[in-house]
Amino acid sequence: MVDLLIRNASIQDCGEQIDIAVDGGRIVSRGKDLSLPSNLEIDLKGRLLIPGFVDSHVHLDIALMNEWDRPGRARPFRYPQELNEEVERRRKFFTFEDFEQRGKRAIELACRHGVTAIRAQCHVDPEVGLRHLEALIVLREKFRHLVDLQIVAFPQQGFFGQPNGLGLFREAFLIGADVMGCASNLERGQGIDFRQHLDAALDLAMELDVDLDVHADLGIPWHVELNDLEIVHLARRVKERGYEGRVAAGHLCALGSATPDVAEQAITMIRDAQIGVISMPDMYRLARDDTHHVRRGLTRVKELLSAGVNVAFASNNVRDAYRPLGNFNLLEEGLILAYGAHMDSVEELETLLKMCTVNAAKIMKLEDYGLEVGCRADFVVLDAYYPSAAIVNQAEKLLVFKSGQLVAVNRVTHHLIHGHPSESDLLL
Ligand SMILES: [Zn+2]
Repeated sequence: MVDLLIRNASIQDCGEQIDIAVDGGRIVSRGKDLSLPSNLEIDLKGRLLIPGFVDSHVHLDIALMNEWDRPGRARPFRYPQELNEEVERRRKFFTFEDFEQRGKRAIELACRHGVTAIRAQCHVDPEVGLRHLEALIVLREKFRHLVDLQIVAFPQQGFFGQPNGLGLFREAFLIGADVMGCASNLERGQGIDFRQHLDAALDLAMELDVDLDVHADLGIPWHVELNDLEIVHLARRVKERGYEGRVAAGHLCALGSATPDVAEQAITMIRDAQIGVISMPDMYRLARDDTHHVRRGLTRVKELLSAGVNVAFASNNVRDAYRPLGNFNLLEEGLILAYGAHMDSVEELETLLKMCTVNAAKIMKLEDYGLEVGCRADFVVLDAYYPSAAIVNQAEKLLVFKSGQLVAVNRVTHHLIHGHPSESDLLL
């Protein structure tokens, strides 16, 4: 007797509909017409079953800091620096209760959208100390049944601007941070360039034997040489120091500014250093002062993929001072990326679904992730029969399972009215 038997599931890259048996929170069997007694049986009738969505880069500590009922930016902005100032001004008022309430709402929203793992960026700097981290550690424990949370110690104010700036990060890992972060655009140390910032982050990650997750190349210069790119310096260092496979890099907007030959060289270096790349919805944030032919800011998603780089995409910011949009909904982010990166063939739409599941899981190094026998039963039933339809239709996540337990049910109903509506049609 198994806990759960899923019947007639369509699985990406699997040519036929199959059954999946779950017991003790894991997939214990899969195949055609399994004959196993079960406590619960669900017939998907050919609907798509995918492993849980993975949001591999999101600033969870500041997520949902905007007014919930009336989302949107309170004031316009021109330069990203203004957004850093705004978030640092507003975070002074965060209380522990506030982290708890926002965090609960954020994780439940993610769960509703089928997210079963999140890599959360978390401010660590002399001004907030470890307050944000302590709050996220509490959330990580409290919502373990809904989501696997990895916490990145993120230097919102750089490493070198204050005494013992790096020491604080060692403390962060003593109390429970998982991954080292960095962002050279936020460095406040006088005369420190991006190379020193990246080197310091890599040194510390290696000292602590943790993965490194970098915010890199956030600007979109009109012209960029190979050696101007942060990712190129990082890839060189990672190779020199033998840290291949331990580094992820988000954004890489400036790679989009590079000429094709420069970009090709950079992408080869990224691939050789086995750096995973996370694309964000960068299109909305940059070039607010461009008056015509407005630059976007997306990295070269298709070129990275075709070179064999592991590329994911993620929410980055959800309803905070940086981005007042977002829902922890990776199908929504996938559709945005489909438009932005010109990914509209059937195959490319299928790739998009992999980017926010298996590719992102690889970046987070999630153990036992997937739909094979032995994997943890973290999966989502989509109201779609093909991966491309999941993106284009923005398919509902009908059932969400975490460790074999049903944790969310979503239904959208709609029907046309011919003649008189019934009483139930008018109930809101
Ligand atoms: Zn970020």
